Amino acid sequence: MASLFEVDIAKLRGVGEKRAKLFCKLGAPTVGDLLRLYPRDYVDWTSPLPIGEAPLGETAVVRGEITEGPSETRARGGLLLCRATAWDGEDEVRLTFFNNRFISQMLRPGETYLFRGKLTQSGGRWAMASPAFVAQAKAPGLEPVYPATQGLSSRQVAAAVQAALKLLPENMRDSLPQALREKHALCHLGYALERIHRPRDQEELAVARRRLVFEEFLILQLGLMQIKSGRKEENLHRASGQYPEDFARLLPFRLTGAQQRAIAEGVKDMAGSSPMNRLVQGDVGSGKTAVAAALCWVAAKSGWQAALMAPTEILAAQHYQSLSALLEPAGLRCALLTGGLTPKEHRAVQAAIAAGEVDLAIGTHALISQKVSFRDLGLVITDEQHRFGVNQRAALAQKGASPHLLVMSATPIPRTLALMAYGDLDISVLDELPPGRQPVETYLIGPDKRERAFQYVRKRLEEGRQAYLICPLITEGETAMMSLDQYEALVRGAFPGVPIEVLHGKMKPAQKDRAMEAFAQGEARLLVATTVVEVGVDVPNAAVMIIENAERYGLSQLHQLRGRIGRGEHKSACILIADNDSPETLERLRLFKSTSDGFAIADADLKLRGPGDFFGQRQHGLPPLKIAGMWMDMDLLREAQKCARRVFYSGALEGEEYRSLRAETRRLFEKTGGTRLAL
Ligand code: ADP
Ligand code: MG
Repeated sequence: MASLFEVDIAKLRGVGEKRAKLFCKLGAPTVGDLLRLYPRDYVDWTSPLPIGEAPLGETAVVRGEITEGPSETRARGGLLLCRATAWDGEDEVRLTFFNNRFISQMLRPGETYLFRGKLTQSGGRWAMASPAFVAQAKAPGLEPVYPATQGLSSRQVAAAVQAALKLLPENMRDSLPQALREKHALCHLGYALERIHRPRDQEELAVARRRLVFEEFLILQLGLMQIKSGRKEENLHRASGQYPEDFARLLPFRLTGAQQRAIAEGVKDMAGSSPMNRLVQGDVGSGKTAVAAALCWVAAKSGWQAALMAPTEILAAQHYQSLSALLEPAGLRCALLTGGLTPKEHRAVQAAIAAGEVDLAIGTHALISQKVSFRDLGLVITDEQHRFGVNQRAALAQKGASPHLLVMSATPIPRTLALMAYGDLDISVLDELPPGRQPVETYLIGPDKRERAFQYVRKRLEEGRQAYLICPLITEGETAMMSLDQYEALVRGAFPGVPIEVLHGKMKPAQKDRAMEAFAQGEARLLVATTVVEVGVDVPNAAVMIIENAERYGLSQLHQLRGRIGRGEHKSACILIADNDSPETLERLRLFKSTSDGFAIADADLKLRGPGDFFGQRQHGLPPLKIAGMWMDMDLLREAQKCARRVFYSGALEGEEYRSLRAETRRLFEKTGGTRLAL
């Protein structure tokens, strides 16, 4: 198998140079990769229904013998019609094909076929238009459907996969040792590959899938463990380990128990024998910033520098404002480094950081630019980490000698998934909100009630509050939905004389800052924005949010958005406007309306939309999962995790029989550039 990853896809029978490019596009530059390009779905030919029992109007597979036709006629306009009738011993179905001159040669009278199409009824007779069909004797069981791309159909991919399967050696080596396979009831790799691409029935598919999912989880987990243990280097920045009481006194509020625990865990890590490597997971508003600030304070008091990296300019600026206000009176020197600075300002900040005149550098990914160097970077914090990749985190860490790492995430993900996605980190959970928060009231209305929602906003504006109006970023004409410009015009018309700012991702950083600043200072009363405000922005006076086209967002994203309000002492309301009457969508939104628990919402999202959203590369920079993401099974994940721990910590992984598993692990992380460590 390993060597097939060295065979260029162009060398495969029937592929050639030109098509090879298309295969690369699908993520299969080699024959080995092609074998790992799993079907995204299957057409089930295994259980044809009697014609009379197939559901009308839905796609179904029926079986029938050709009793009439096929016969060709020309309709008006030259359209070629081919008709035939098939009989299953009870009922007849009339088949019609359009403009396909091969059908009459393919369908043979007296032979039995399986037909797959939408069954309709006309004049008391069953009918199917343009069904797909196969001879019963050659029925494929489950027919794989592959990811396709322009110029390369699923069928063509299937043909190439079949050619690739022929190249698998007769008694190929398995990447998983036999003992491990037996322990976990996993089939051989050869069988799994063969059957995932050519399952004869659901059972074979389940067996193949189980093996491949397990392997994928195992490899991912092993890779993360290796990254983690690779960081078990010496701690060159040893803190005293004392809880920072003096810091707590700087705060205008009392830390919650959860915050105190997270700070204590961090402080203990920083005093340990190897550097801290910790994730702080907390729902929106749980007060992650204070935890970060406490550890920055510890770093500065220990004589090292700290860096805080945020995913957007807005968020970096906001952190800078609140943290410098808090920490500068205590003697910490803070600096903001973002892409928005002039070159001259940039150079000045860089020089100060390099000279050690800055204790806490706050910024966007500008912080990881090559020109930035620190005198002694001891602590690296990344906020809203799902926006950064594993590699960006690593790049910042490289600017110091084994600095401590703290990652803050506001995506409450179920514990098992957290272990999966952040297997390389220790985890602190902020499971307690600061006291006195008023829950946000959530409403769900149709667009016809928009004016009433606006009326409510007007009332709250009069009380002195501010509001977010969220609209998807759509350019003119893209869909039937309103574009941001149209929406802005609508809002300006509905709120004459009210100062309004607009914020979207395509604006220049300086423009964004200006808009956000105006809103934060209360000069603008309404902020018309896309989801760029989703991340971390904090304006306590904003107490109302309207989310247009709420059906377009995942629950976790809505939760993030809603987390922007209810941050001050004011009663807050979130109004979802959904232009959609699909029952599933409404159910989803109703569920969202009924709870404010981020973990419950994440669980629901997981059930409704699958783990893709948690595992998507975009979220956390992990290598994309090829099969596990689609066929996620929590029990299997737990089993693979346990197995990974055993194999890894017993040292078994270093043995000869694990050689190819080690190689696969390395390959997975190399591809995404996800590791800075020699695996
Ligand atoms: P998030 O976890 O979403 O990043 P923040 O750190 O932005 O949350 O905190 C949300 C708000 O709660 C901020 O205005 C912050 O000042 C306030 N806050 C944080 N901790 C406490 C606390 N223990 N008591 C009261 N208010 C707090
Ligand atoms: Mg935050």
